[in-house]
Amino acid sequence: MPESVLTLFESLVGAEPPHDAPVLFDTACVMGGSIAGLLAARVLSDRARKVVIVEPDDLPKEAGPRPGVPQDQQVHTLLPAGRLWVERWLPGVSREAQDRGASLVGPDKQFVGHDDVRQVRDGVDHRFLAIGRPLLETLVRDRVTALPNVSVLRARATGLRYDDGAVTGVRFAGTGTGGRGERAEGVIAADFAVDAMGRSSRLSNWLAQDGYDQPRLERLEAPVNYATALFERPAKLAELETATVLQLFTPQYPSGGVSVAAATATEGQQWLVMLMGYGDERPGRTIDEFRANCALLPAIFGDITSGDVTRDVVPYHQAESRRRHFTEAGRLPARLVGMGDAVASFNPVYGQGMSSAALHASCLASYLDSGADPGEAATEFFRLQQVVVDAAWAVSAGGDAARIDAENGTEVPEEVRRQRRVMEQIVRAALVDPAVSGAFNNVSYMLRHPGTLFDPAILEKAAAAVEGATAG
Ligand SMILES: Cc1cc2nc3c(=O)[nH]c(=O)nc-3n(C[C@H](O)[C@H](O)[C@H](O)COP(=O)(O)OP(=O)(O)OC[C@H]3O[C@@H](n4cnc5c(N)ncnc54)[C@H](O)[C@@H]3O)c2cc1C
Repeated sequence: MPESVLTLFESLVGAEPPHDAPVLFDTACVMGGSIAGLLAARVLSDRARKVVIVEPDDLPKEAGPRPGVPQDQQVHTLLPAGRLWVERWLPGVSREAQDRGASLVGPDKQFVGHDDVRQVRDGVDHRFLAIGRPLLETLVRDRVTALPNVSVLRARATGLRYDDGAVTGVRFAGTGTGGRGERAEGVIAADFAVDAMGRSSRLSNWLAQDGYDQPRLERLEAPVNYATALFERPAKLAELETATVLQLFTPQYPSGGVSVAAATATEGQQWLVMLMGYGDERPGRTIDEFRANCALLPAIFGDITSGDVTRDVVPYHQAESRRRHFTEAGRLPARLVGMGDAVASFNPVYGQGMSSAALHASCLASYLDSGADPGEAATEFFRLQQVVVDAAWAVSAGGDAARIDAENGTEVPEEVRRQRRVMEQIVRAALVDPAVSGAFNNVSYMLRHPGTLFDPAILEKAAAAVEGATAG
């Protein structure tokens, strides 16, 4: 792994908003008003006279579910890297989230277990935000749309307009709800456009129709079944704010089909509790099944789900992880980038999606700062973004590919087998060795690149820790 990739990743995590950035665009149009779109709009608000977010959903004033984000009832945490970035660009969001009942979780209020072993503390005070997804989006949206040059158009983006190989506008169709000034369809003149339309983005199809290259779509089967319910948070667990348990597929631990369980103390004095199973495992369709599965987990999950149910089980299925390889596309229009799930969407259990979107926004800021000619395709942006996507993909897809190969008995090359053995050793050592735990957490929290785990000093500690644990 070249050192430059590791340092580039860290510089994207640490990037600050620019001071006195020159205005580069007249109108930037962001398609999609969810997390990725809002963060793109924040970056562009420093670089364009006007930023228009095109979003078909009626965006609720108060935090609540909406159809364009069907996963928003599931447990969501904003990892430390994403939170730090959001905090730098939209200062005060974490404080406001806490004032509204979300938890800013530090190491002293977490329980992390693998099977029945509790992970050792790494002694570092990283904090992540445990919050309902709709509340987080509302807090971010309120701040971004309060910027004087940012507005929202309630419409569906339907295509792009170009001139001489560059985007000059975004086509839209109104959502048909009436209202002053609404037009059935039209074009927003824009000299920069962002695709932040999530997994269902049709940008690739538009590009192909319009004579450009379609970025290659890579898919990795990762069929996950989520079940999430809400419970009253009893006073007896006041000192705990999150609990996560991973089942390491060891037959001696009956899991009721649960591979991962997570609980976060969230707004309204509630526990948001998630059970996840792979493939055919459906970890609790009714509250009775849900509680029965929790009873097979470490005792803490029994306590967490002992309060009254405040929202019934909501299931969610996702079949695969996906990424689009923009760096491989030969001919792309200028003045266009993609961000968030529209570009890469992972097995959600690693909690990387929103933090990835924040780091893509960081790539956008670096790209706009780089002096690259906006009249050319945004190759430099896609190069930076690939560093972030590769890092997140290595964490989530690595585990899924190993699981699929093990299930299918697939022969894998020796080098891949070696890397997997090393990763397994690091995961096991992270349970008992604070230094390995720290290195592993930094990668899981997206603060550092996964390549840092292959530092010889970490590998040596991991081998010694596993040997010690086995001997003991
Ligand atoms: C079960 C589950 C659990 C998850 N847990 C976590 C977690 O713990 N932590 C984490 O960081 N991430 C998590 N994620 C991932 C996270 O939800 C996504 O990564 C994140 O929401 C991506 O944001 P986005 O803005 O890219 O896309 P989305 O949130 O999918 O938003 C896309 C937006 O585009 C709009 N849109 C669609 N079509 C058009 C159009 N034609 N024109 C204009 N707008 C359009 C939609 O209405 C929507 O507002 C989880 C995902 C799932 C499925």
